[in-house]
Amino acid sequence: MSVAFGPDELRFRDEVRAFLDAHLSAELRRGAALTPGVFAEPDIARPWQAILEARGWLVYHWPVSAGGPGWSRVKRWIFEKECAEAGAPVLPGMGLKLVGPVLYSFGDEAQKAEHLPRLRSGEDFWAQGFSEPGSGSDLASLRTKAVRDGDDYVVTGQKIWTTQAQHANRLFALVRTDPDAKPQAGISFLLIDMASPGVAVRPILSASGDHELNEVFLDGVRVPVANRVGEEGQGWTIAKFLLENERGGSSFGPGLVADLRRLIEATGPLQGELATRAVRLSLEASALEMTELRTAIELDAGGPPARRSLITKLVASEIRQGIDELAVDAFGPAGLQLPVERPFYGSDMPPPIGPQAAQPAAARYLNSRAWTIFGGTSEIQLTLIAKAAVGL
Ligand SMILES: Cc1cc2nc3c(=O)[nH]c(=O)nc-3n(C[C@H](O)[C@H](O)[C@H](O)COP(=O)(O)OP(=O)(O)OC[C@H]3O[C@@H](n4cnc5c(N)ncnc54)[C@H](O)[C@@H]3O)c2cc1C
Repeated sequence: MSVAFGPDELRFRDEVRAFLDAHLSAELRRGAALTPGVFAEPDIARPWQAILEARGWLVYHWPVSAGGPGWSRVKRWIFEKECAEAGAPVLPGMGLKLVGPVLYSFGDEAQKAEHLPRLRSGEDFWAQGFSEPGSGSDLASLRTKAVRDGDDYVVTGQKIWTTQAQHANRLFALVRTDPDAKPQAGISFLLIDMASPGVAVRPILSASGDHELNEVFLDGVRVPVANRVGEEGQGWTIAKFLLENERGGSSFGPGLVADLRRLIEATGPLQGELATRAVRLSLEASALEMTELRTAIELDAGGPPARRSLITKLVASEIRQGIDELAVDAFGPAGLQLPVERPFYGSDMPPPIGPQAAQPAAARYLNSRAWTIFGGTSEIQLTLIAKAAVGL
């Protein structure tokens, strides 16, 4: 699909393309192409983060006041589109997209000065400690407690499904500071040093055998009160701000369009029912991409956030699962291979059965079941849409 961008946008697109040609190495592209989870692993993500930071494009979605490049929404969309088309690694979002905006929006000057540079340099790797056993969709019921003791909180509880916590040296967490207040009002937002005594991380292997998720146990962990972001009891407001960024902070369409194109390049032309599914997915992904671009254009023109933005995470999750399901079917028996070795781009990988792109297909298929769960399940998304967009 072609879009009639103006000369400034076309110049910008060419600049991004030239940058990607020059700096996105074959090794990084290969690593990204063979990543079966949502985010690149640190061996791929760290070097790409450093390259983007050196160019001044790492925090492209942050405002100028927080160190961003001041791009319009359309330019952000173009950047995401070009990165997706070039097959750039998808950087973990917990730091750059989630806690970063929280820090520059709600953090005090000391917190911003301490954490934002370390986040950008990659010195700090953040994990998101929101969900708990029994408190996922019903997040406000969370029970991890933080009891004030002098200048510290003493934090005790358990977090679960904590993405890439095994790599993290920092955790941002929702904790209950007031057990007597109504559930939402008793929650605060803390920044926790993962090296603190009492923090333990236990892996959760997904159905594919990948290690992306973890349980995080907090047993009497002392966290300075200075590490609380915002006021005591303001955690729920901050969490809502953060979850909006998690569900709608960047475009989903370009990545889906590019992944589908690469799949068809790897399988060759599809026939019959497979071809029908590919065409339907292609139309849906392109429609999502254009919907996101349209919303970006409206926001740049000063319009209010469109209600249609509420559907993007829901729709993107279904297209993602459709593409990964199509891959398994289209590769035939080769799409069912599920090696135990990791990473897929590592030297220990057995030779692929069939094309290289088929090797991670089964792992991708299994991992992408999670798309309709994380960041708010599809049922919860539908409820939000029913209330906010349809007025039910
Ligand atoms: C791959 C992956 C990565 C994740 N990463 C993180 C992370 O880094 N940090 C973090 O904090 N969390 C993370 N999560 C957790 C995620 O946010 C939760 O799994 C999600 O919010 C759902 O919560 P739950 O698992 O407790 O399921 P539940 O809330 O128990 O839901 C179970 C089922 O009931 C349905 N349901 C629940 N309530 C309602 C309702 N009111 N109306 C209709 N249906 C309902 C749900 O849709 C679902 O189908 C991750 C999850 C996954 C799968």
